[in-house]
Amino acid sequence: MASNAATTFSLDHSSARQRFRQAASHLGWQLESYPIGLVGPDGDELAFDVACSQGGAPEKVLVVSSGVHGVEGFFGSTVQVALLEQWTSATPSPTRCVFLHGLNPFGFAWLRRFDENNVDPNRNFLLPGERFEGAPDGYAELDDFLNPRRPPSRWEPFTLKALWLIARHGMPALRQAVAAGQHDYPRGLFFGGNGPSRTQQMLGENMPRWLRGSKCVVHLDFHTGLGRKGACKLLIDYPLNEMQRRWLTDWFGTDSFEACDSNGIAYDARGGFGRWCMSRALAPHYLFACAEFGTYGPVQVLSGLRAENQAHHWSTPKAASTIRAKQRLKELFCPASSAWRSQVVQRGLDLVSRAQKGLLQVAPP
Ligand SMILES: [Zn+2]
Repeated sequence: MASNAATTFSLDHSSARQRFRQAASHLGWQLESYPIGLVGPDGDELAFDVACSQGGAPEKVLVVSSGVHGVEGFFGSTVQVALLEQWTSATPSPTRCVFLHGLNPFGFAWLRRFDENNVDPNRNFLLPGERFEGAPDGYAELDDFLNPRRPPSRWEPFTLKALWLIARHGMPALRQAVAAGQHDYPRGLFFGGNGPSRTQQMLGENMPRWLRGSKCVVHLDFHTGLGRKGACKLLIDYPLNEMQRRWLTDWFGTDSFEACDSNGIAYDARGGFGRWCMSRALAPHYLFACAEFGTYGPVQVLSGLRAENQAHHWSTPKAASTIRAKQRLKELFCPASSAWRSQVVQRGLDLVSRAQKGLLQVAPP
């Protein structure tokens, strides 16, 4: 099942949507779509899709989300479809499920991490009272380097400049300055927006309804592009309580996760999805984990994000440099390597199976 699924990554957002919707409706799940009023490169309507399993006990719920970061959705979508295809009427999902597909449809379809307003949705989930303002220390000085106001060029010594900056500031400080999320440079990388994104609004309006009656929820939000190639880490962007820590340790292993206070591959980002879910008290017990799967090194990934962002703002969709930048970004977040693909899909399915086994064992509050 898994190796078969691994070879069938969708080629584009339209076919990913179609496969997801088909597999969910085949199982009799309830489907909802939220069009965003824009189209993709093929002219197809762009929308978020949500599928909820029907029947079964409502208390324990598995939530799987994909594509918060647009182009990263190729992987998350494949895991979702593989799960739907492995569950049949004879062997249905052991828990209730809510699947959120392609949470940034514009980025997914147009091969970018950010949305139609250049917002990074995973830097936009601010809590009530937090202001959509400011930038991390050091971002202002890096603006010219990160966000050149011209189309990308193949002949730029990006890597040299990046290595010089790493040597000068150190990787942790640089990563924090670049990627923690900023609100002052609307065309810049890692822009957190000036107000709640469409993604945040749609989830805010509907998550209470999808999760009605739930008592224990495990939410896996699939991402790629951070960490060792093919390896998986569960990143936690909120303070863990004792129960959440125990579930993570018992179900996934002590080394499987990084809490926001540890010194690993993660950095202290602002406006993350997990902390926002926690703040909304969607269920008495809620464990959220950003499941990150490594692809390429951080300098390559940043170089690709930068070039695509330059192309998006300062070039045209049909320019050769734009097409090249977008194809490269896709490779950086969804490598074509079949070894990588089968490894990450296996691991993704394994995470889900562990989460469901764990859920079945806990006594609801
Ligand atoms: Zn991501």
